[in-house]
Amino acid sequence: MSTPLPQREPATGLPASVTIYEVGPRDGLQNEKRSVPTDVKAELVRRLGAAGLPIVETTSFVNPSWIPQLADASDLLSQLGPSGQSRQRPVLVPNERGLDRALDAGVQAIAIFGSATETFAQRNLGRSIEESIEMFTPVVKRAGDEGMWVRAYLSMCFGDPWEGVVPVAQVADVAERLMDLGADQLSIGDTIGTGTPGHVQHLLAELDRRGIGVDRVAVHFHDTYGQALSNTMEALRAGVTVVDSAAGGLGGCPYAKSATGNLATEDLVWALDGAGVETGVDLGALVETSRWMAEQLGRPSPSRVVKALAGD
Ligand code: MG
Repeated sequence: MSTPLPQREPATGLPASVTIYEVGPRDGLQNEKRSVPTDVKAELVRRLGAAGLPIVETTSFVNPSWIPQLADASDLLSQLGPSGQSRQRPVLVPNERGLDRALDAGVQAIAIFGSATETFAQRNLGRSIEESIEMFTPVVKRAGDEGMWVRAYLSMCFGDPWEGVVPVAQVADVAERLMDLGADQLSIGDTIGTGTPGHVQHLLAELDRRGIGVDRVAVHFHDTYGQALSNTMEALRAGVTVVDSAAGGLGGCPYAKSATGNLATEDLVWALDGAGVETGVDLGALVETSRWMAEQLGRPSPSRVVKALAGD
């Protein structure tokens, strides 16, 4: 029996190519219970690059007491050497202290992370939306002066576990504030995975009305309720061409007792390969990497494609 691959049947209405923004080493590992040795993380980043992923968000310079899983950020970047110092290897930076550490490590691209809701801003950043924007202002300004590329994540865009419904206009208000700071790209996050395709249409249309076109928007969906891939395809039909995902579905969901958090990169690549959308990713090499990583973590990958191809 040959290895199953999706039959290539090009779909209409989709972009010719999509850039996958791999978040496994950062967003994935920060939400895994088990801490991973630095050399395993370095190997993961290298293997993801070798599998053809064009962008790999590598680590985070948040306070190590907040996220002990990524406390080794500087060591990881020095293990990666020059390959970790490119625009294709962004790192998360919350504040000026984090930016200083990133600059010391030779980082060329950073991501800041805001919240569309007040409750999550307080819980995740310990400050209001307004105060968090004050915190990001000098970070984005200095990063721009240093020639860095800057992404702005926005969390809770499709629902909030404490506040429930999050109005589209409220999300767009905060998105505008973040982009006005000078960020290059906005990643809209469905942090709890409750979004559905109509919601995706409405938010993208509202962002476009505010001058944030699909050429500057990436989508970050979680599969907690099985909606990540259909939401992603909806965004692609609206013209988005950058999609966040995590190899093997690394990360789980911190806001629900679910093994399923980030959209699995393999599930995304399967759909795009079948639809004739170029990603540059070698699905077989990626699945091998996720099987290896699952062994390191001591638990199976929640990705349907990894499970199907690995036969476990
Ligand atoms: Mg995520």
